[in-house]
Amino acid sequence: MNFQKILDEIYAEIQPELSRGKVADYIPALAEVKREQFAMTLTLPDGSVYSVGESTKPFSIQSISKAFTFTMALDIYSKALYERVGVEPSGNPFNSLVQLEYEHGKPRNPFINAGAIAITDALITHYRDEYKTLEAVIGFVRRISDNPEISFDSIVANSEMEHGDRNLALARLMKSFGKFENDVQQTVMTYFKHCAITMNTEELSRAMLFLAFGGTDPISGKQFITPAQAKRINAMMLTCGHYDASGEFAFHVGLPAKSGVGGGIAATVPGVMSIAVWSPGLNQYGNSHAGTLALELFTTKTGLSIF
Ligand code: GLU
Repeated sequence: MNFQKILDEIYAEIQPELSRGKVADYIPALAEVKREQFAMTLTLPDGSVYSVGESTKPFSIQSISKAFTFTMALDIYSKALYERVGVEPSGNPFNSLVQLEYEHGKPRNPFINAGAIAITDALITHYRDEYKTLEAVIGFVRRISDNPEISFDSIVANSEMEHGDRNLALARLMKSFGKFENDVQQTVMTYFKHCAITMNTEELSRAMLFLAFGGTDPISGKQFITPAQAKRINAMMLTCGHYDASGEFAFHVGLPAKSGVGGGIAATVPGVMSIAVWSPGLNQYGNSHAGTLALELFTTKTGLSIF
């Protein structure tokens, strides 16, 4: 298949969509990002990389980092993790407090904000403090992307903390149910910092490759997790990766993927390749508008979906 030609076609077809959608403005540092931008990268197991658009331009990966922290926590806690966080789609917006209240402080899944904050809490308990936890998360992302340069943007993290009342409220609500082990402020700040990891589509696509290949990076041969764990993370991305639009994404795109309000989407085509796409304009659910359409065009043109 001529992947470069397919990407070039997608790039041309997606142009009218780049001025649709709305850049995330509830995090002031993200509100400054120009909407009309697009990048897409495919990484294959033989190391070949195909890109289009601004694929070397860094962006805030935001909730895509939840796929990485969930991977780490699953590896550490195994089945005991499900006592802290469920595995069902929420059908609710990413930062909803309502469901958490009537489900007694146990988040539905690791990809809604409450679930991801609970995962950060679990990681801090394991690594003993928030600095070691952040170091471990960044270290893990550096290893899976085979890139020692990956880091986070403290301006974005601080900007989010200044407007972080809702996420702090989620953590406090969990604490009120006795379902939170560490300091709320420090844990939420650590969560904001891992959300503020900055990557471009080339780096992000590379980082997802191990998840497309049963937990082992086919380029370096390094095994990060077991095939059973990789299955669970892919399943979670398919069913919960796009908040209350997860069903719609599976319906139109048909790939396990995780989105972030920075406009990125990271996807796997299990056994075939990993994909990252970025376009900052978001749809009403907080997922990249053009990025979602580009992935839909990709699976339509190539027939590469899991269904
Ligand atoms: N850090 C963002 C928040 O907690 C992540 C949301 C997202 O990317 O969907 O609101």
